[in-house]
Amino acid sequence: MNVAFKQPPTSTRTLDSIAEALLLPSGIDGVYARTATFERVVNGLTDLISEYREPSTEVLRFPPVMSRRQVEKSGYLKSFPHFLGCVSCLSGEEHQIRTAVDRHEAGQDWTGALAPADLVLSPAACYPVYPLAASRGQIPAEGLIFDVACDCFRREPSKMLDRLQSFRMREYVCIGTPVQIDAFRRRWMKLAESFADRLGLSWRIDHASDPFFGRGGKLMAVSQVEQELKFELLIPVHSAEQPTACMSFNYHRDHFGSTWNIRTASGEVAHTGCVAFGIDRLALALFATHGLDLPQWPASLRKALTI
Ligand code: 5GP
Ligand code: ZN
Repeated sequence: MNVAFKQPPTSTRTLDSIAEALLLPSGIDGVYARTATFERVVNGLTDLISEYREPSTEVLRFPPVMSRRQVEKSGYLKSFPHFLGCVSCLSGEEHQIRTAVDRHEAGQDWTGALAPADLVLSPAACYPVYPLAASRGQIPAEGLIFDVACDCFRREPSKMLDRLQSFRMREYVCIGTPVQIDAFRRRWMKLAESFADRLGLSWRIDHASDPFFGRGGKLMAVSQVEQELKFELLIPVHSAEQPTACMSFNYHRDHFGSTWNIRTASGEVAHTGCVAFGIDRLALALFATHGLDLPQWPASLRKALTI
């Protein structure tokens, strides 16, 4: 694997000065209003990622909430219960709801009356695609590729601008045979290099592991690295020593295939993989590298982002 960054960080500004111009506070750590300048870059990135979409890819845009049942069945509570946000609402008869509201108006806690709904906040963009693919029957021989996106939530409050509780994720997802997933991931790890170069970003790709929950999670993380199930594109947004993961390349083996009984054309359990773009992190990396003044960005980059 690459051990050094492809090129040294250029003119990394302190992220605090970036915040003032781009991400306005909401009163909650890790939740920001994005300014028009930030969104121009986000839109440019979104379109640029679409240029890399392969033929026959199906585009789906998911809402920021998804079925709680599907997330439970996917094993999320085993791996990442500490990140999950569950939607809870007031329900029941009018008088029951009124009692909760009255408590709030009397300056008391009203949240005890909330009951969990059948929804969670989506923790990643690809979770809803597997049951959807399964519901359509066997996967065609050439495999399937989806282009998905949604606003994601992970309960990780932080003052760091690259650690948001609510952030946007775009993914290309492949469902098929192990050989197809391996080829998809290799292809994408190569494409990501040229993508990051076009953005004028300093980067390296390295083995990675997910932040699994608890003591058992440490073992899962070690095994994930050993089996090379996850790689990340790292960018020195703060520093070269603690770079920020802006993309990930994941191989789930047969996890989602067996969970949802997804079958290949030959009847085997399908394997899956995904490549995820952290849209807010990529935009932040661009501002940290090239500064706040868009007209001063390299001409080739402005052309690539059409800004
Ligand atoms: P993964 O599912 O691999 O953890 O996340 C996919 C991508 O989403 C990451 O590579 C990263 O770019 C983005 N992402 C993950 N967590 C955060 C976060 O806390 N804040 C932001 N802005 N992006 C995140
Ligand atoms: Zn995914």
